[in-house]
Amino acid sequence: ILSSILLFSCAAQLQTNESFAMDTVIRQTVYASDADVIIQNNDILREIENEMSKTINTSDVGKLNASQGQTVQISSDTVQVLMASLAEAEKTDGAFNPALGDVITAWGFGTDSVRVPDDQELTALLAATDYRKVTVEPADNTANTGGMQIDLGGAVKGYALDRIAENLQQNNIESAVISLGGSIYAKGTKPDGSSYKIGIRDPYSGENDYMGTILLEGKFVSTSGIYERGFEKDGVWYHHIIDPKTGYPADNGIESVTVVADSGILSDIYSTALFVMGVETGIEFAQQNGLDVLYLTKNKEIVTTDGFREKYDFKVKNTNYRE
Ligand code: ADP
Repeated sequence: ILSSILLFSCAAQLQTNESFAMDTVIRQTVYASDADVIIQNNDILREIENEMSKTINTSDVGKLNASQGQTVQISSDTVQVLMASLAEAEKTDGAFNPALGDVITAWGFGTDSVRVPDDQELTALLAATDYRKVTVEPADNTANTGGMQIDLGGAVKGYALDRIAENLQQNNIESAVISLGGSIYAKGTKPDGSSYKIGIRDPYSGENDYMGTILLEGKFVSTSGIYERGFEKDGVWYHHIIDPKTGYPADNGIESVTVVADSGILSDIYSTALFVMGVETGIEFAQQNGLDVLYLTKNKEIVTTDGFREKYDFKVKNTNYRE
């Protein structure tokens, strides 16, 4: 057995790939004997996108949103994402709300027709965002929206990373980094034994400019920021993380929040939820739930949960931020 393990690790070579799915650039770095696992990962991403994209009519979410309250047959992937989303909606007191579909559509985020809905329109749309009306039956893979419109954009990429992590495990991959936009999974260490270094994006600089770095091993990290998706209108920047209480982009002095967790879907969901909660409530929630969190605020403050810096060897590069 030992010799076959040695043979395997000798044969593992650096394989990299860049692709596009879920409206996001996907970057894969994998130490493997061939590129098969990368191709499989890309297939997984396409499969999940076809199940859960709101803009694909034939997806589960497309069918649910056209169902007018009828029960719909959905994939087991979608069942899992819906169940986790509803459970976390309950736990975060609705800060994460998978039934915001109508509100997000009204803003047009991610489409060519973005606009600023008025108070009256948003108030009317908010009346139909009660996630408690959404029901899922895992035993027969069905769901009923209760007339709500579903948007799983805050959970899908994290779930996709969970599926990819599973696939890496099945392929006996010991070392890899997979990034889906703001959500990243790092497995194992580099061949020289060092941990993978992950950049925390600089909110006001380019996509590849980092305000700092963390070291990540066997964990998932997700960042939700004001810069990621949004548009400017009359000098105001409208970003895509919605406060479910107002229907407007959450406006609480935060530039971004980064969550490290043992699960992709949870790190993704919590980065959105903790953005909505704001720094004070978010840090309290994180401490109570054992989450490792890093906030960057518009005042250039860095706020973390206890022990974050030491645990992930967080290093600040951009000294405009006060520690
Ligand atoms: P990204 O999709 O860019 O990785 P996030 O993980 O931060 O971004 O999730 C933001 C997405 O989640 C939005 O584009 C929208 O689809 C959805 N969303 C926005 N606000 C909420 C909210 N309060 N609860 C649940 N989902 C939300």
